[in-house]
Amino acid sequence: MELKIGVIGTGAIGMDHIRRITYKTKGAKVVAVSDINVERAQQIAQEVGAKFVKSGEELIKLPEVDAVVVTSWDPTHEGYVLEAIKNKKYVFCEKPLAVEAEGCKRIMDEEIKLGKKLVQVGYMRRYDRGYEEIKEMLDSRKLGEVLMLHCAHRNPGVDESYTTPMAVENSVVHEIDVLRWLLKENYVAAQVILPKRTTSAHKELQDPQIVILETESGIHIDIEIFVNCHYGYDIKCEVMCETGMVSLTDPAFSSVRTEGKDFTKVSSDWKDRFMKAYDREIQLWVDSVKADELNGPNAWDGYVAAITSTACSKARDTGERVQIQLDECPALYNDSLVLA
Ligand code: NAP
Repeated sequence: MELKIGVIGTGAIGMDHIRRITYKTKGAKVVAVSDINVERAQQIAQEVGAKFVKSGEELIKLPEVDAVVVTSWDPTHEGYVLEAIKNKKYVFCEKPLAVEAEGCKRIMDEEIKLGKKLVQVGYMRRYDRGYEEIKEMLDSRKLGEVLMLHCAHRNPGVDESYTTPMAVENSVVHEIDVLRWLLKENYVAAQVILPKRTTSAHKELQDPQIVILETESGIHIDIEIFVNCHYGYDIKCEVMCETGMVSLTDPAFSSVRTEGKDFTKVSSDWKDRFMKAYDREIQLWVDSVKADELNGPNAWDGYVAAITSTACSKARDTGERVQIQLDECPALYNDSLVLA
């Protein structure tokens, strides 16, 4: 039986997920779409043979919709996720789960009342082969204890709508999730260093920034976020352990040598770099919904990301080292650092 999916939000990633589900994912189809941008939503609905629905709330209630994908604007996520839980429907929500940790708590409260996890958050890096291989190596403990991580998150350029806080809230939040998953440890403190600004940044934007996180066992992580690097979309992760180092390689499958130089392709954007991870993320989500047991990033992971992002933002604004304190993890999410 095909899983019948309703998608709310037909912008950049919404379109991608709709086409992914329609043309690549096995055992699922998009039956309904909604967006405040009616024309775009109607066009994609027609392309994939889905129904256009005027509002997200209406879409969630449709009896023919088994599960919901939320890819609308950040501040709308919490409301749609709560509505999906109210209607006892599985919901895949792009990050962030809610704009603030309090919103994530409201979502967890509803799942706890129901006694069941219905929510998965779109932290797709957990499905990237490079990160998966690093995790296998760390889990094997062949390299001894992890001591430090050096990471970078570089985009070729951004427009004027990209603000200084977005460096953490929209970009580094992916590192916040995936590194915690790799290390199976929560963060205890954050610092942010603001280095010399690039002349390519628009006048309101502090770019680059360096985020430093410390984990429960004392591992230090530095993350360079530089969104005007010009040359491509480049994600680095180097994990230094006691007896060796494991790191992401650049995901290129060929190189060209000519005129005394060796050229290797650098990804152009996040869609290109993480395409396979998105494909796997959605396929495994569909499979887990059909099996009636989610195993991807959950509402607690969304909450931890929100608390950590807020601490980073405070660290950036104050220049201080900010402590990160989490509530006690509710029993429903106890396996959160083990699964996926
Ligand atoms: P986008 O292109 O701006 O698309 C968002 C869409 O939602 C737009 O079509 C927008 O309409 C629509 N929208 C706004 N309010 C709505 C509402 N109340 N109900 C229904 N639709 C509404 O943004 P995007 O890049 O696709 O990002 C969408 C979400 O995915 C964001 O939360 C973002 O953080 C997340 N995201 C995640 C990843 C990832 O790697 N996991 C990557 C990209 C984006 P208008 O255009 O008319 O405003």
